[in-house]
Amino acid sequence: MSHLCCTGRHSDPPCAGASIARPIKKETDITSATPAATRGFDAFGLGPSVLRGIDFAGYETPRPIQLETIPAVLDGADVMGLAQTGTGKTAAFALPILEQLMARKTRSTSVLVLAPTRELATQIHTEVTDLGQFTRAKSITVYGGVSIKRQIEALRRKPQIVVACPGRLLDLHRQGAIKLDQVDTLVIDEADHMLDLGFLPDVKAIIDLVPTKRQTMMFSATMPPEIRKLANDVLNDPLVVDLGNSKVVSTVEHEIYPVSQRNKLSLLQHLLGEAPFYSAIVFTRTKHRATRIARQLRNSGFDSAALQGNMSQLQRDKAMQGFRDGKFQILVATDIAARGIDIANVTYVINYDFPNTPDAYIHRIGRTGRSEQEGRAFTFVIPDDEPAVRALEKKLGKRVNRCVLPEFAELKVTEDGKVTSTQPGAASAPEPAPSEATRGNAGDRKRRPPKGHRGHQTSRGRRSRARHRKHASRSTRSQP
Ligand code: AMP
Repeated sequence: MSHLCCTGRHSDPPCAGASIARPIKKETDITSATPAATRGFDAFGLGPSVLRGIDFAGYETPRPIQLETIPAVLDGADVMGLAQTGTGKTAAFALPILEQLMARKTRSTSVLVLAPTRELATQIHTEVTDLGQFTRAKSITVYGGVSIKRQIEALRRKPQIVVACPGRLLDLHRQGAIKLDQVDTLVIDEADHMLDLGFLPDVKAIIDLVPTKRQTMMFSATMPPEIRKLANDVLNDPLVVDLGNSKVVSTVEHEIYPVSQRNKLSLLQHLLGEAPFYSAIVFTRTKHRATRIARQLRNSGFDSAALQGNMSQLQRDKAMQGFRDGKFQILVATDIAARGIDIANVTYVINYDFPNTPDAYIHRIGRTGRSEQEGRAFTFVIPDDEPAVRALEKKLGKRVNRCVLPEFAELKVTEDGKVTSTQPGAASAPEPAPSEATRGNAGDRKRRPPKGHRGHQTSRGRRSRARHRKHASRSTRSQP
């Protein structure tokens, strides 16, 4: 994989795939299960209704996480699945749950799935509904920001599966609209986030409401040790399936762009205008900034939408659906889009603002490079971000290439990779409104199908890339 602008090539070790983490109790090395990968879904002993759902979804071969998780869940074991979104974890828990529901013929809510964002809850519900369409199981979502009345009505129909965000679920419980005493299966997605300080009180309250005799599953791409300890208190002798958590997929190329705060927007426009791409997610730190950048990109001809927590649910749904459908090529989002969201063919993830933690970086970057497609992660770095860059590189176990474009960075990269300002105050000066000169001419830009992204460039794209590379190698030579 060559670089847009860096002089060197990455020497990243590829994601090791399955790896064995420190055991909690049982632990599975899924590499040892490779021969099973040749078996189809029918080897799990799933019934015809569930198999029809799998067929309808077009899944031919079980994914590694499914090979390990499905038999364990059917056996009644608790599971901790450490895997990136897009590895098939939703089906890994949904399929055996649907099978168990077929056997039980329950008429009350017995499966509770907790997710941190409305978007992720909707995504899980959609997959469960698709896979379970030939079964009698019914799923609904409950989350805030929309009418509670409709959810109360939906709960009266006694769905067996409820996919919920914690706050609204507790509201509904307080109002007597949902009983959790019949729940025998609890799934906590993005478990590390659900057990961190923000969500923990609500999640604990919910765990106290469901029977202690239950099957519990947790899934996450990252699991810091302190959260893992908490998780261990909730799980009972879990099977741990570790697909190389905390690692970023090997199909993603990482680049850091030193830039001054005031030049971030022009650098963004430059990168987006540089070569055809399919779609991009731009992450900002604040809600206000997500809205502003999306607007500024639209003004300069890019099809873009914002996604942030202050928007109404209708606006959020429109942005998400528009991005999935290709109406918007660019989604400018806060971290609400960082976890769990599975959208095919995202070419670029651009960290307009540096993520708060290395784990947040891993979650954001997990939106690209999915299903063996190539993806690229651009991260804008101002000097204030330097300690965070170090922490990230420590977590990744490697140095990330710096791409210095002199026209955007009144900054210099020192020999040890540190980013410093060459002009006092310049690096953190506020961003100006975009001038005509910084506006791209993107009005005629078309979304390009992602044939491996790179093999599908126009000669204009290649020429521009070559120019850019030459330019950058000049700059990085003078600032090693
Ligand atoms: P996740 O977000 O980890 O649940 O991954 C979901 C994505 O993987 C969705 O696009 C699913 O349709 C897809 N998927 C899950 N299992 C399979 C499978 N066995 N074969 C092909 N695609 C799958």
